[in-house]
Amino acid sequence: MKPLVFITRPLPPQAVEFLATQCEVRMHSEDAALTESQLVSACADAEGILVVGAKINQQVLRAARPLKIVANCGVGYDNIDVAACTERRILVTNTPGVLDDSTADLAFALLLATARRVAEGDRLVREGRWHEWKWNLLWGADVHHKTLGLLGFGRIGQAVARRAQGFSMRILYHSRRRVEEAVERQLGAGRVDLDTLLRESDFLSIHVPLTSETRRLIGARELALMKPSAMLINTARGKVVDEEALVQALDKKLIAGAGLDVFENEPQLHPALIGMTNVVLTPHIGSASHETRLKMAMCSAENLLAGLAGRRPPNIVNPEVLPNNRG
Ligand code: NAP
Repeated sequence: MKPLVFITRPLPPQAVEFLATQCEVRMHSEDAALTESQLVSACADAEGILVVGAKINQQVLRAARPLKIVANCGVGYDNIDVAACTERRILVTNTPGVLDDSTADLAFALLLATARRVAEGDRLVREGRWHEWKWNLLWGADVHHKTLGLLGFGRIGQAVARRAQGFSMRILYHSRRRVEEAVERQLGAGRVDLDTLLRESDFLSIHVPLTSETRRLIGARELALMKPSAMLINTARGKVVDEEALVQALDKKLIAGAGLDVFENEPQLHPALIGMTNVVLTPHIGSASHETRLKMAMCSAENLLAGLAGRRPPNIVNPEVLPNNRG
C-alpha cells in the first residue's frame, strides 16, 4: 500500500504527479490557510505532510500518529515545531538554494524602490497628480557606491551581495561566524560586529532566519544606531524586527525609509506603515516567481519521497533523527 501524503495547499500538477508515483496524495484544494482543527483531521493518518504555508505545531503532530516526515516548501522553517518533530523522530526538510536568487532579486527591488521612490512615483502618476516636469520632484537617494549592510550572510545574503557588486557598493556583513575568506574576497565583503553594521550601512538588508536569537534582533536601540539617511530592507522574517520600534524610528526620522516584504503579524501590519510614503510594502512574495515556486514544489516533493523511502532527504533540517545507516 502506498503511504498517504497530505499537501496543505494546491501545488503545481508536476509536483503532485511526481508524488503520486509513489504515494497516495491528498491535497487541500484551496490556496487558503487551514484552521488548526482542519489540519489535525487532515493529517491524522498521513505518513508525510508537504507543508505549504501552514503551521505544524504540537497539536497537529500529536494527532498524526503514523507521521514520518514533514517536508516544508520553503527555506525558513519557523512554522514547524522542529523540536517536537525531533522528539518523535519525525524528519523535517526544507528547500534551501532554489529560491536564493529570486529572494535576493526582491530584496534588491525593494532597496531600489525605496531609495528611488518608485512606488511614490507610481502613485503620483496613477492618481493624476503629475502635472509637469519638475526640477525637485521626488528626489531620492543614490544606491551606487553606497554601503550595503547585510545582516545574515548565508545563501540569500550572499546573493544580494552579488547584485550589489554591480552597483559598486561597499559591502559589510554580520553573522555569528565569519564566512570563508575566499567568499569574502570574491564578494568584496567584510565582516563587522552588529553595531558597526548598523552605524555604517546606508542600506541594511536582513537575511537571518527567525530563531530565538534573532527574534526582535532589530529594536529601538539598534534602529537608533543607524544613520538618519539609512533605509532598512526586510525580506527575511517580520519578527526579526520590532515593528513598533521601526514605526517610531521612521516617524522620528531616525532612519529615512524601509522596504518590507515581511511583517511581525502577517497579514496584519502596523497601521502607521500604511500611511508612510517612505515605506515600500510587498505581501511576503520573496520567492514568488513562476520558476522558483515550481522548483520549491519539486524540491520539497523530492525530500518527502526520499524520507518515506528510507533514503536520506537532500535537505534535512534535523539529521539527528536519522538512524546511523541513513546518515
Ligand atoms: P542561510 O543560508 O541559513 O543564512 C542565514 C544567515 O544568517 C547566515 O549567515 C547565518 O550565519 C546568519 N545568522 C543566523 N543566526 C544569526 C544570529 N543570531 N545573528 C547573526 N547572524 C545569524 O539562510 P538563507 O537561505 O539565506 O535564508 C534566510 C532566511 O530568509 C530564511 O530563514 C527565511 O526566513 C527568509 N526567506 C524569506 C523569503 C520571503 O519570501 N520573504 C524567501 C526565502 C527566505 P551564522 O550561522 O554564522 O550566524
